[in-house]
Amino acid sequence: MSAKYKKKCMRCSNYVTISRYKKYVVCDECNEKELNQEIDDPKYKKLFDIPKKFYKQNSFLRDIKLNYLRYEKLSEKQVAAFKKTVKEMKK
Ligand SMILES: [Zn+2]
Repeated sequence: MSAKYKKKCMRCSNYVTISRYKKYVVCDECNEKELNQEIDDPKYKKLFDIPKKFYKQNSFLRDIKLNYLRYEKLSEKQVAAFKKTVKEMKK
């Protein structure tokens, strides 16, 4: 089952097609803008310094980074999961 939904991006007025219902939808452009924000904390700067295509390919990595950008912190579990995912993608 893959019903398609069209929703308006919550930041601009682009429409986004999603396959599963989500309350908040952000289009690729806004996503990218958000993802490319500067990170000041050296520890996190290093953590998030991975090839851009990884973020494109993996929504989990995007979500973690966005989480950090929004709340300026991550749990150790999130950091570990992020590192593990990156490691697996580098294979
Ligand atoms: Zn947008």
